[in-house]
Amino acid sequence: MTDTYTKAVNTGMTKTLAKKLGLPRPALLRRHQPGAPLTVGPVLVVSDAASQESAAAVAATLDGWGLTVARQDDDATRWGAVVVVLTDVARPADASTAVLSLPGALKRLAPNGRVVTVSRAAAPGDAPELAAVRQGVDGFLRSLAKELRAGATANGIQLADDAAADHPSARAALRFFLSAKSAYVDGQLLTVSAANGWFLYPADAWDRPLEGKVAVVTGAARGIGAAIAKTLARDGATVVCVDVPAAGEGLARTANAVRGTALQLDVTAPDAGEKILAHARTRHGGLDVVVHNAGITRDKLLANMDAARWDSVVAVNVEAQLRINETLLAAAAAGDLDGLRIVSLASTSGIAGNRGQTNYAFTKAGVVGHTAATATLLAAHGGTANAVAPGFIETEMTQHIPFATRQVARRLSSLLQGGEPVDVAEAVAFLASPGAVGITGQTLRVCGQNLVGR
Ligand code: NAD
Repeated sequence: MTDTYTKAVNTGMTKTLAKKLGLPRPALLRRHQPGAPLTVGPVLVVSDAASQESAAAVAATLDGWGLTVARQDDDATRWGAVVVVLTDVARPADASTAVLSLPGALKRLAPNGRVVTVSRAAAPGDAPELAAVRQGVDGFLRSLAKELRAGATANGIQLADDAAADHPSARAALRFFLSAKSAYVDGQLLTVSAANGWFLYPADAWDRPLEGKVAVVTGAARGIGAAIAKTLARDGATVVCVDVPAAGEGLARTANAVRGTALQLDVTAPDAGEKILAHARTRHGGLDVVVHNAGITRDKLLANMDAARWDSVVAVNVEAQLRINETLLAAAAAGDLDGLRIVSLASTSGIAGNRGQTNYAFTKAGVVGHTAATATLLAAHGGTANAVAPGFIETEMTQHIPFATRQVARRLSSLLQGGEPVDVAEAVAFLASPGAVGITGQTLRVCGQNLVGR
């Protein structure tokens, strides 16, 4: 589904012409293929003087994954990835050596290369100089992401609660950011906490981390939901596909494709949570992952807004999630649903705002809000709740946007193109995976570093 312009500027004569005219040339993004190498080349790990120990732990992790790892640039290697470890840097002036060792390596970063920072999250008790450098990494990372070209991305891991650089969730996040699974995630930071338990990742589980798990995906008949169902199934999950009866044909198609089951259900039904839980338990013996993906748009300027448009969007996009979560939380409190993973679909519209979408943005910002609150409640039962906020994704929903607006929306990101449903699905699958246990209450943008919002 690569858009026509991106295809044209990457093929034959039109590629030469685009080069000559100096037109923006979105890269063809490398996406996950089973069996393909994790990175597009060797990995360089650099750090400031104080973070040597963490850097050694990161290098050992990468080495354990069979990657070629170096601790120093050599003026010749075309790097597949650069990992910048700043976990123990004490003040802004101390970051110089690590940062200023990067320019040469960045010039030789391969197309679809990766930069990942590993640092510590700023915490309330930090001394001012420590808070400055920790927060500084945030601005550094987001700016560097905007400087990279040719499909390369930069993302960051922020360790919290004394999590070590090789905490299982830090390793899982590092692997996700380095891989082609994060093709459309750019300029984002994830916080990894040690507070939410410790999960020893089986060394061979990277290909099928959801083996033996049961996952429910709402809105699975088409678009992003269908891609999520397929990706979770690829990762080993048995998938229950949920959609409205009117979408029965698409629903059956997805359920067949993933060898899962179909549940025709309007998520706004008052007993939707009970129905989902009962279906998962009776047909598959349990429930481990719930993905709230069903969503609608009914765009109108607020000056022209009517109750039908406002209330239907609120009902599907946020109230249904809240009500289903209440049922799930009650089951968790009864001791029946330990370790549950909830991943909800937000949107960059809910973060940055979007003209004509007060109703939609209200609900999507609401998802960001309830995700953080639900995370706290689920933590007591070993569960996590996270949200994924897609930017512009090529689906039927976005095909309805007028042509000119659609073109602008696509190009207004660091990667100069829209994402694919699978890009959102990969982020959801990562957050649902056992390795992501230390990541909770967060909203991960999958937007190619869309230039709107934070
Ligand atoms: P889509 O319209 O292609 O698919 C949505 C699916 O949800 C449909 O199959 C629909 O039948 C189902 N659905 C709607 N109401 C339902 C209900 N009451 N009960 C059960 N199922 C219901 O949308 P999409 O583009 O695939 O988007 C999926 C999610 O991602 C939505 O939450 C959307 O808001 C979000 N999102 C999409 C984009 C994008 O660019 N496409 C951007 C940001 C966020």
